[in-house]
Amino acid sequence: MNFNDDYAMTIDGRAVTGKATIDVVNPATGEVFASAPDCSKEQLDEAVAAAQKAFKGWRDTPIADRQAMVSRAADLLLAHADEMARLFTREQGRPVDAARQEIQGAAAWMKAVAQMEPPVHVSEDSDTQFIETRYVPLGVVCAIAPWNFPVNLAMWKVAPALVAGNTMVLKPSPFTPLCTLKIGQLFAEIFPAGVFNVVSGGDDLGPMMTAHPGFAKISFTGSTATGKRVMESAAKDLKRLTLELGGNDASIVLPDVDLDSVAQTIFMAAFYNTAQICVATKRLYVHEDVYDGLRDRLAAIAGAVKVGNGVEQGTVLGPIQNKRQYDRVMELLEDARANDLTLIQGAAVPDGAGYFVPVTIVDNPPEDSRVVQEEAFGPILPMIKFSDIDDVIERANTSEYGLAGAVWSADTAKATAIARRLETGTVWVNQFINLRPDTIFAGRKNSGFGVENGMEGLLEYMAPQAVYVAK
Ligand code: NAD
Repeated sequence: MNFNDDYAMTIDGRAVTGKATIDVVNPATGEVFASAPDCSKEQLDEAVAAAQKAFKGWRDTPIADRQAMVSRAADLLLAHADEMARLFTREQGRPVDAARQEIQGAAAWMKAVAQMEPPVHVSEDSDTQFIETRYVPLGVVCAIAPWNFPVNLAMWKVAPALVAGNTMVLKPSPFTPLCTLKIGQLFAEIFPAGVFNVVSGGDDLGPMMTAHPGFAKISFTGSTATGKRVMESAAKDLKRLTLELGGNDASIVLPDVDLDSVAQTIFMAAFYNTAQICVATKRLYVHEDVYDGLRDRLAAIAGAVKVGNGVEQGTVLGPIQNKRQYDRVMELLEDARANDLTLIQGAAVPDGAGYFVPVTIVDNPPEDSRVVQEEAFGPILPMIKFSDIDDVIERANTSEYGLAGAVWSADTAKATAIARRLETGTVWVNQFINLRPDTIFAGRKNSGFGVENGMEGLLEYMAPQAVYVAK
C-alpha cells in the first residue's frame, strides 16, 4: 500500500474519494501536506446502508471467525507499523518511535480483544424449564475518535464492536484522518464488504452521524463539551452511548517518596504526548516537605527535554497537535501571566509556524486559578503545595471530572488507601497510564459514562437477552 497520497474512505469495501476535501496540516510546520475526503450526506447514507446490509451476515458469522478476522486485521496493522508511524508523525506530531509504539500497542490490544467472548448465564436448567441470559450484537455502531491517540482509541472501539458482531462506521478527527483512512483500506482486505467503514470530513460530519437514525449505538471519545452534544443528539432515537470524555487528573505526592526515583516518571505522567492525554497528570499536588525538591527536579528535566519536530532524532515531545488546541493553550498561558503566576519554562522550542509550546510548570498557583480548574490538554502543569492529606483528597475530588488519578509514596498500602478515595474511574499507585485490554476504563462525572475495555467494555456493544424455555 502506498502511504504517501491517495487517501480514500472505505465504504462497503470500496475506496471512495470525496467530492470535496479537507486539508491536513503537519503540526510541526503548520503546513498543509495532504488532503482527506470530506464525506457528503449521501456518502454517509451509503456507508450506513452498507453497514446495515452487512449486519445480518456478520452477526450470524460464528464468533470464532469474527475473532480470527480481528486478529488478522491486527497482524496487518502490525505489518505496516513502520510506514504508518511516519504518516502518524506527520499528521499527529508525536515522535516516530512513540508513534510506532501506539500502532503496535493498538495491534496488541486488538489481538487481546479477539480472545474475548461474551458470557452466557444459566439461571435454571431443571426438569421444568431452562433460563439463560445471553448477549447479542446491537447493529451498526457509530464510532467517533479524537486526535490525541488516533489509532489506539479508534481500535479500542473497532475490536470489541466487531468481535461482538456489530458492523461499524468509524470517523477520525478532522485533524488526524490519514492513518485511520489507511486502516480502512487495509482492513477491507479482511472484513466482508460493509462490516467496517471509515469516513472522514470536517466539523459537520460528527453531528450528521450522531443524528443519523441508522446507528444503534454511538461510541464517542473526545471533549466533554462535544460529548454533551453527542448525548443530546443521540436522545432522539435513544441510541446506546459510550462517552469517554475529558479529565483533570490529580496526582498526589506524599512526603516519603524517593524524589530521584519518581521525578522522571511523574514528568512523563504529565507531559508525554505533549500532555495531550485524557489521563495525564493535570494537577500535581505535592506535600510541602518535598515540594521544592520535586519542583527543582522537574524543572531540570524540562530544561533538558528536546521539544521539536517528531521526525528529528532525539525529539521527546512534539508540537501541540492542532492550531485550535495551540490557541487554547496559549490563552491559558496568557491568563497565568496576567494573574502573575510563577511560570518555570523548559528548553526552547523551534521557531516558525509549528505549534510548539515550551514545557511549563506553574509554581504553586491558587486552587481557583484557571490553570488548576480547567483541563489544559497541553504542556502547562500546575504544581500545588499541600500539608493535610484529607484536605488534598477533598481538593483532588472537587472537580467536574472523574477520569483517573495517582498517588506516589514509598508506603504502597497507605497510597492505595488514599487512591481508593479518589472519585475517578481509574487510580494508579506509583505508576501512570498503565491500561490493559482486560481491565475496564471508565469515566465518572463529566468524564463520561459507559465502559471501554474488559468484559464490561465488550458487553457495551451488546444487548442482554433473557431466554425462558418451558420443558
Ligand atoms: P473533540 O470533542 O473536539 O472531538 C472529538 C471527535 O468528535 C472528533 O472526531 C470531532 O470531529 C468529533 N465532533 C466534533 N463535534 C461533534 C459533534 N457535535 N457531534 C459529533 N462529533 C463531533 O475532542 P478532541 O479535541 O479531538 O479531543 C480532546 C479531548 O478528548 C480532551 O478533552 C480529552 O481529555 C478527551 N479524551 C478523552 C479520552 C477518554 O478516553 N476519556 C481519551 C482521549 C481524549
